[in-house]
Amino acid sequence: MPEEMQTDVAEVETFAFQAEIAQLMSLIINTFYSNKEIFLRELISNSSDALDKIRYESLTDPSKLDSGKELYIKIIPNKSEGTLTLIDTGIGMTKADLVNNLGTIAKSGTKAFMEALQAGADISMIGQFGVGFYSCYLVADRVTVHSKHNDDEQYVWESSAGGSFTVRPDHGEPLGRGTQIVLHIKEDLTEYLEEHKIKEIVKKHSQFIGYPIKLLVEKEREKELSDDEAEEEKKEEEKEDDKPKIEDVGEDDEEDKKDRRRRRLSKRSTPRMGSSTRPSPSGRATLTTSLRKNTVTSTSPSPTTGKTISLSSTLSEGQLESELYYLSPPAPSTVREQKRRTTSVVRGQGINHGTTTRTSSPEYLNFIKGVVDSEDLPLNISREMLQQNKILKVIRKNLVKKCLELFEELAEDKENYKKYYEQFSKNLKLGIHEDSQNRSKLADLLRYHTSASGDEACSLKEYASRMKENQKHIYYITGENRDQVANSSFVERVKKRGYEVVYMTEPIDEYVVQQMREYDGKTLVSVTKEGLELPEDEEEKKKREEDKVKFEGLCKVMKNILDNKVEKVVVSNRLVESPCCIVTAQYGWSANMERIMKAQALRDTSTMGYMAAKKHLEINPDHSIVETLRQKAEADKNDKAVKDLVILLYETALLSSGFALDEPQVHASRIYRMVKLGLGIDEDEPIQVEEANVGDVPPLEGDADDASRMEEVE
Ligand code: ADP
Repeated sequence: MPEEMQTDVAEVETFAFQAEIAQLMSLIINTFYSNKEIFLRELISNSSDALDKIRYESLTDPSKLDSGKELYIKIIPNKSEGTLTLIDTGIGMTKADLVNNLGTIAKSGTKAFMEALQAGADISMIGQFGVGFYSCYLVADRVTVHSKHNDDEQYVWESSAGGSFTVRPDHGEPLGRGTQIVLHIKEDLTEYLEEHKIKEIVKKHSQFIGYPIKLLVEKEREKELSDDEAEEEKKEEEKEDDKPKIEDVGEDDEEDKKDRRRRRLSKRSTPRMGSSTRPSPSGRATLTTSLRKNTVTSTSPSPTTGKTISLSSTLSEGQLESELYYLSPPAPSTVREQKRRTTSVVRGQGINHGTTTRTSSPEYLNFIKGVVDSEDLPLNISREMLQQNKILKVIRKNLVKKCLELFEELAEDKENYKKYYEQFSKNLKLGIHEDSQNRSKLADLLRYHTSASGDEACSLKEYASRMKENQKHIYYITGENRDQVANSSFVERVKKRGYEVVYMTEPIDEYVVQQMREYDGKTLVSVTKEGLELPEDEEEKKKREEDKVKFEGLCKVMKNILDNKVEKVVVSNRLVESPCCIVTAQYGWSANMERIMKAQALRDTSTMGYMAAKKHLEINPDHSIVETLRQKAEADKNDKAVKDLVILLYETALLSSGFALDEPQVHASRIYRMVKLGLGIDEDEPIQVEEANVGDVPPLEGDADDASRMEEVE
């Protein structure tokens, strides 16, 4: 029987919507907006909040649940009536609540939302302004809200918009406790009564709701049954299903049944959606595997390409108990993409308006995607406040700890770890830079190729275990790629002396070594920087002292020639086959770093000056070129040939040490002149191509016809 007939007209009270609310409603109704489906998210979110509230109250007063222990949300589409009904067993609303909350007291958000809309905001943001309820008028032309609060009788609120609503006592079916919202769906929007559509929307927008969301569906089946069988089947299904209501649809009444063997049985069942778990009244919701999977697929930009680590563990510290699920989509290719990745913290019982709360897990862990389910986060607290929450800080700290533990675990399986490492090494390295507290743990996770590691990369720990007895430092070289560093003259001596050199070939390694000055008490020493001291015995020491004295003169001459191009010229102990090399000051940039910085489009040019690699030229006392040069220089300090050769040596050393030449064409023309000399071509014959490009070719000093000199250089 229609309820209206039972209602005494005198009981109906009519209210005018507060002006701004009325305005908002007509805006919602009249604005062309296609993403109407968000209404369901808003209503479910309100239900979830209402369930939170009663659950919260029941913690201190369990009798509050006497009116119904089960906490759930139920969605019932009814095509024949054209209604969509949402039921929750939440806290419900008293008469005063209905009047105040749904129409007469405007929140500040009402006006703010309208202004935001005018400024280009999207209607789907409605929930953030605290007026989500009214979004039901996106799809309904009439809305009826039945509600029962523990402190009041059951009431019905109803409005077809148009500036007013009514409230009256509800003599219809008792709800026990909670709210039932009946949406009279607009004629052209019956798609929202389709089961699959509802499922899709719930899945998309309300997957984090911590209460079971049941959808009442009509399943039609053709069945051959006798009456007895039918009865039996009924019973069986009752057992099977959660709380199935088996209802006969169609025209069969009691008498008809007997005559018909073939009959249609339509079962109304209530499968759950969203989170498939049901929290105990005081308990927590547990996120399910499928939810976790969904987290990845609905948030990672390319779910198909990613490998997923999926693990769960419990974070606990003192009072705090929460669960963390973390998964990692593929490493983002751009920083911007990476920024979008964050770890979400979800409080135990769902999230307001379908938005998760973001924790700022450290930047370098941004590739970890996951959901933290915590019972300890306060309910009814704004997202901004949640960010500041102490519990959240603890969670954050634990997250990092857990992630590192996860990586350690992963690293145990060498083969497998390779795959992850490939994807996430940059993040770990960024962590070394960012997270000083966990630096040593992160350092353990790094893998590098070394001069002794062969094709496999190894950990610094392995390096340390292979260190020679007298070796105090970990030697490393930074550069563009493995081949380049492996063949670099800097590595020569160190390798020859039996020490291992770590090859660091990613740009970010330059930043890593700036922060990670040591590993396990052993300093990291760059083989390309000044002051490289290899352990040496008495004899070697003696020889070095002698060399120093022997080549002192040449060093001075060279420094004079090169002037401010280099800081100083010294005798090297790191070279074997090259005549000289350029090393950089301990705290300045390395050649590799200089290359990286020059390549940065937005670099701050002012730092180039003082950070630019301070160059030291080191000469190899055992090399024939250097020795002959010394003899020439000693014979005649002002030998022009010496001057020219020194510059040429310097430029070549720059190149082989990984620097770029400031004026490559000048260097080229020097080389061409040498080639001409070698070929016995007359100096006066111009080389057209080259001369054309070069403005100021430095004059080749010394006599051009001294071909014998060329032989020395070769
Ligand atoms: P918000 O939920 O952001 O406060 P809404 O416009 O969606 O804003 O809802 C207005 C108010 O109506 C809520 O604050 C709540 O008090 C009440 N309300 C809405 N839906 C329900 C419900 N299902 N159960 C109980 N109260 C509700």
